[in-house]
Amino acid sequence: MQCPRCHLDIKEQQQCPDCGFDISESPWVVIATVNPPEDVLLESLIKSFGIPVRLIKSLGSVFGLTVGPLGEVKIAVPEAFAEQTRELLQAETEGKDPEQS
Ligand SMILES: [Zn+2]
Repeated sequence: MQCPRCHLDIKEQQQCPDCGFDISESPWVVIATVNPPEDVLLESLIKSFGIPVRLIKSLGSVFGLTVGPLGEVKIAVPEAFAEQTRELLQAETEGKDPEQS
């Protein structure tokens, strides 16, 4: 991935060796709320862009409920990557029928 501040390629490092930007100190923001198995698809998609991602699972999915609000999974990325990720996801889902299951 690239450092969001200076765009140096910092690979899997948590801190940029050039400008000192620390990804682990960046606040994480939720960019999407989805139901499984879309959470896993989005996770691998975002990872494929070199962007760190976290899945925040609600209580429901812990107990195996995957339908309805209880099964929702929040997709979070560091704030510095939020806008970039939204654009990537928008481009990725463009032209697809959102109602398609
Ligand atoms: Zn940097």
